[in-house]
Amino acid sequence: MTASQRLFFALWPEQRIRQQLINVQSSLTAPGRFVLPENLHVTLSFLGNVSSDSRLLLLEQATALTEHTAFTLIFEDIQFWPTSGVVCLTTRVIPETIVLIAEKLNRLARELGLNVDTRPYQPHVTLARDSSKIEALGLIQPITWSATHFCLVESCVNSEGVIYQIIQEWPFDKC
Ligand code: ATP
Ligand code: MG
Repeated sequence: MTASQRLFFALWPEQRIRQQLINVQSSLTAPGRFVLPENLHVTLSFLGNVSSDSRLLLLEQATALTEHTAFTLIFEDIQFWPTSGVVCLTTRVIPETIVLIAEKLNRLARELGLNVDTRPYQPHVTLARDSSKIEALGLIQPITWSATHFCLVESCVNSEGVIYQIIQEWPFDKC
C-alpha cells in the first residue's frame, strides 16, 4: 500500500513572475526565513495527508475546474501576518474566480473526508516565515500574475527543508 502524501492545490509562477517575487524578497529588511525561490506559490487549497485512493479521486475530479477561465491576480501589498509570523504578498482586489475555485477544491476535499481551511480565502504568496514586523510593509510596484494553470503539489521534507513537487498541472480555459 502506498503511504499517504501531504498535498495542496496551488498556482505556480512562471519564471518571470518568480524573478519578480525574488526581487520583492530581497527588498525585505527583517525577513526571518525566506521561502526558497523554487517554492514560491499561491496555495488554493491545503489538503494535508491524503491516501493514494483519495489522491486518484482528486486527480479525476479536479479536471472539472478547467472549465474556469484564466484570470489575473495583481500582487501589490506586502503584509505581515502576526498570527502565523509570515510576510506575504497579497492582492488588494480578489477576483471572484479564484474564490470560487478555492471553494470548489475545498468542497472536493471535504467530500473525501479531508479537513480543509474554513477561513475566507485570501490569495497570497508567502515570502518569508518566522518573521517579525518589518518596516518596509505596504504597496509595491504591482506584479501581474496571469493564472493560466493550477497544480496538485506534494510537500516533501528533505535535509534542506520542505520541497514541493508538482504531481499534475491543469490549464484553465483561455480568455
Ligand atoms: P513548513 O511547514 O516546513 O514551514 P510549508 O508551510 O511551506 O513549510 P506545508 O506545511 O507542507 O509547507 O504547506 C504547503 C502549503 O500549504 C503552504 O503554502 C502553506 O502555507 C499551506 N498550508 C499549510 N498548512 C495549512 C493549513 N492548515 N491551512 C491552510 N494552508 C496551509
Ligand atoms: Mg507549513
